[in-house]
Amino acid sequence: MIIAVDGPAASGKGTIARALAAHFGLLHLDTGLLYRAVALNLLATGGDPESEFAAARACDISQIDLADPELKSEAIGGVASRISSYPLVREALIARQKNFAAQPGGAVLDGRDIGTVIAPHADAKLYVTASPEIRARRRHAELGDAASFDHVLADVLARDARDSERAAAPLVRAPDADLLDTSDLTISAAVQRAVALVEARTGRR
Ligand code: C5P
Repeated sequence: MIIAVDGPAASGKGTIARALAAHFGLLHLDTGLLYRAVALNLLATGGDPESEFAAARACDISQIDLADPELKSEAIGGVASRISSYPLVREALIARQKNFAAQPGGAVLDGRDIGTVIAPHADAKLYVTASPEIRARRRHAELGDAASFDHVLADVLARDARDSERAAAPLVRAPDADLLDTSDLTISAAVQRAVALVEARTGRR
């Protein structure tokens, strides 16, 4: 069984994807980490994020530890969002994601284009979202007082625009994806709802 979880930054999709993987006994891949790893590799080698060719040269991420907390920083997220618009970068990362999805027993993947590009035949697809203000509030709480709320909101909106407006694999809800708006839900209510949606789609308990 393949479960595709897509949505914008801070929508709760990562938490939901991890919980679905635990619930259904599947392995999970946070595909945003791959783009973040390319961003970290690029910066570490002094490459220019404005150059698609420089970014493409940074796509061998075999030396990057995907558990490195540095990958989660706002700075890396910003560069990841930029370089993920390059078709050469997306192509370089596709095989790894498709192979993960195709492993025996199935998998849960979360990202922006899982239900549309990586696993269009997924058994269940969720499009997880929340209002920009709520997502910025969550991000702001995570960051503490290091950043102003207005700055975080502006960043969330800029990233939404970049992810949704790019030509290559933009962030869109797949026509057959179930919508899960987490704006007014606690984490556990959102997870319960996600489990129910997947069960309804697949008949799996
Ligand atoms: O999900 P996360 O914020 O970690 O992703 C970092 C960036 O990687 C996103 O802003 C997005 O531009 C890009 N990304 C993508 N496709 C995916 C996953 C992430 O373009 N499947």
